[in-house]
Amino acid sequence: MFVKVDVAQLLKNLGREDKVEESYNYKFDGEENVNLVSPVKYNLKIVGLNEGVLVTGKAITEVELNCARCGKKYIQSLEIEMEEEYKLPHLVVSKKDLFDEDTVFEIEDEKYIDLTEAVRQGILVNLPLQSVCSKECGLCKKIGENKKNDPRFSKLSELKNKIEK
Ligand SMILES: [Zn+2]
Repeated sequence: MFVKVDVAQLLKNLGREDKVEESYNYKFDGEENVNLVSPVKYNLKIVGLNEGVLVTGKAITEVELNCARCGKKYIQSLEIEMEEEYKLPHLVVSKKDLFDEDTVFEIEDEKYIDLTEAVRQGILVNLPLQSVCSKECGLCKKIGENKKNDPRFSKLSELKNKIEK
């Protein structure tokens, strides 16, 4: 899966800007266990630099997660702020250090940038550290226990038991 953008003109014109707005279906391989349930939509600005381009903007998508508290699956939307530098290969030292803020990507064939890896990393760093389906999740149990101990509710549950019998 490649999302290639032709930046040949940008490389020739310092300071020139292009906008890219598209969406595509991206699938993580099994190892990472990230299940995207919506296409990745991105809205980016690409600016020509000296021997490179700077990509800034946003990508949004939705991911299915397991709630750490109740175990249910739920959908979380992700908004990824992007700021990535792409340079001609001879200027790039490393390009695959995840979580390395200074990651610089390579421009391919002196004219294409491939957004796939940048988006992939952006999604991974934006996943919540603790996935919880809602702010209230986990609290409900406590409220439930309080209800049981509350005399008004025990009367109610007595009644309920009688009716059920
Ligand atoms: Zn939950």
